[in-house]
Amino acid sequence: MSAATTRSRTPDRLCAEAVDLAREAAEEAAAPGVVGEHVEVVAEGDRVVTHFFECKEPGYRGWRWAVTVTRASRAKLVTLDETVLLPGPDALLAPEWVPWSERLRPGDLGPGDLLPTEADDLRLEPGYSGEDAPPPNSAVSEEMAEHLDVEDAEITSRTPSRGAIASVAEELGMRRARVLSRYGLHVAADRWEEAFGAKTPMAQAAPATCASCAFLMPLSGSLKQAFGVCANEFSPADGHVVSLAYGCGGHSEAAVMPKPPRPAAPVLDSMGADEFRLRPARDSGSVPPETDGASEDLGHS
Ligand code: SF4
Repeated sequence: MSAATTRSRTPDRLCAEAVDLAREAAEEAAAPGVVGEHVEVVAEGDRVVTHFFECKEPGYRGWRWAVTVTRASRAKLVTLDETVLLPGPDALLAPEWVPWSERLRPGDLGPGDLLPTEADDLRLEPGYSGEDAPPPNSAVSEEMAEHLDVEDAEITSRTPSRGAIASVAEELGMRRARVLSRYGLHVAADRWEEAFGAKTPMAQAAPATCASCAFLMPLSGSLKQAFGVCANEFSPADGHVVSLAYGCGGHSEAAVMPKPPRPAAPVLDSMGADEFRLRPARDSGSVPPETDGASEDLGHS
């Protein structure tokens, strides 16, 4: 260990002795009567020392007044550096601040609230804007139209015009600034599966799955292979997206479905009695196997 390190960890003697100066500074900064016992002295560096005093304020349990004093090299006069209130090792602290976007929980959004999405929200990706130029070799591109004029040729295009593509895209709901990304689809599917999926107690006790229920309204898009919307007002899933493997007692065909067979209840005969002989019968001359060993153990002849 170097001499500099040793020196910096040993409080300067004159600074360490300036407890009264430090207490006076703490009492000046604090309210009257809230500076308690002197707790410890910590060396901050060469001729820089911090004195800690207990804080007796009821709302600051475990906090300490920290008064830093110092002196110039070869000077004997100790001067005040700063006075602050710091939390001690057992201090009662407020929980760490969390940004609102991480504090938000499903269901927190109320009428009139706005929840803007980030530009780089992983759940979203750019949608089809309709502004993309068709490739140069496309039958509807301007380059191809000029080429046909020069060649005086005519082709019959089976590709719809750009206007038609845009209108179809709009009808399908694709002409939006952003659409759900693959990640967005996956997290939504996980959520729905957890709430109304095959592993829920309701689905486990259902007579059949939603896939065969008349109340299931199909979705469009890739998720239709696994989910639909329940439209049975008596079902707990009414209006919710349900997994095709989910099910409930409101299944449209529940009335005509055979009930699963129940095992018969065990029958206990509490009236009859079984004969259990403790000694061999005199006339049989045979010893029952279950009493043979016991008789020998007890020394019976
Ligand atoms: S009524 Fe039940 S089984 Fe039918 S779709 Fe709704 S949740 Fe599924």
